[in-house]
Amino acid sequence: MAQIVLQNVTKTFKDEEVVKNLNVTIKDGSFTVLVGPSGCGKSTTLRMIAGLETQTSGDIWIGEKCVNDVPPGKRNIAMVFQNYALYPTMTVQENIEFGLINKKVPKEERKKLISEISEIVGLTPYLNKKPQYLSGGQRQRVALARAMVKKPQVFILDEPLSNLDAKLRNQMRTELIQLHKRLGTTFVYVTHDQVEAMSMGDEIIILNKGVVKQVDSPMDIYHDPNNTFTAEFIGTPAMNIFKYEDVRGLLPNVGDQASFIGFRPEHTSIQSNALTHDDCLVIPGEIVTRETLGAEVIYRIKSKVGDCQVKTFLSTVERDSNVFISIPYDDLYFFDRN
Ligand code: ADP
Repeated sequence: MAQIVLQNVTKTFKDEEVVKNLNVTIKDGSFTVLVGPSGCGKSTTLRMIAGLETQTSGDIWIGEKCVNDVPPGKRNIAMVFQNYALYPTMTVQENIEFGLINKKVPKEERKKLISEISEIVGLTPYLNKKPQYLSGGQRQRVALARAMVKKPQVFILDEPLSNLDAKLRNQMRTELIQLHKRLGTTFVYVTHDQVEAMSMGDEIIILNKGVVKQVDSPMDIYHDPNNTFTAEFIGTPAMNIFKYEDVRGLLPNVGDQASFIGFRPEHTSIQSNALTHDDCLVIPGEIVTRETLGAEVIYRIKSKVGDCQVKTFLSTVERDSNVFISIPYDDLYFFDRN
């Protein structure tokens, strides 16, 4: 187990800075998720931690040790990728055992480790099968088992579930969370999927264009985003954000100096009359589309201050009708700048 510290870490490819002066601490034993849009530098950051890529400047610490000059094989890190990288001609057992033979682990110990770990990941019945006869989820478990036998101090997982279908992905999410609890080892997990990040991580690092936008628990990221990027990136549908000056006329004069104002689609209600509430922002608008999700409905609304989305349990309001959106003041977010 170990904490990881990135100190002023920058990575430049040719002339492009893809990771910019990163300063983060990944807590010992945490399940930390690095999330952000495609191309924002997540994999590069992971690869620098693993030693597969060398940072252009800055320091990386794993545990008590600065690992700038430590080669990947000596960092005591195990990696799991989305493409599994299994050896097709070897059985499950041989795939798991391969790294142990390389490390000259004695046969008896190898047997014990393989049996213990295949039990944990549910592979015991498949040990003699070749990867081609396994499902995607089982292959991913082999990749995990192969990482686990190394007993690393850190697990690094790069979009490990993105090749699985939605149902299996859900199941594997739960399995990974349980596995992390059981092992207590630091997990660093990369995904571009905010739902995956929110449901799996106990700590989330939000990256955009190589810059850390926020580091917090999922709940704090959702309830207390400290910038408009985080606010819009987390949550489905995304937070509605408007220029403060466009909404100011509908608010009591509170003397706020914010640049932007936001509200989440799920923190609103709509009604067909302008009943004003003392403690709500009320915005008139017209429903453009109505998307029924089952219990909930998402309305796209052309409002007086701009287009927005509203998510509510009410389904009585019809398309094309004129409505009033109300948002409790307590559910408004104010942002200084982007
Ligand atoms: P993410 O994992 O967030 O999708 P990456 O870390 O893979 O992003 O990539 C970040 C940026 O760095 C991208 O613009 C990508 O094209 C670029 N990049 C990644 N690896 C290399 C490389 N080996 N050489 C040149 N550019 C690279």
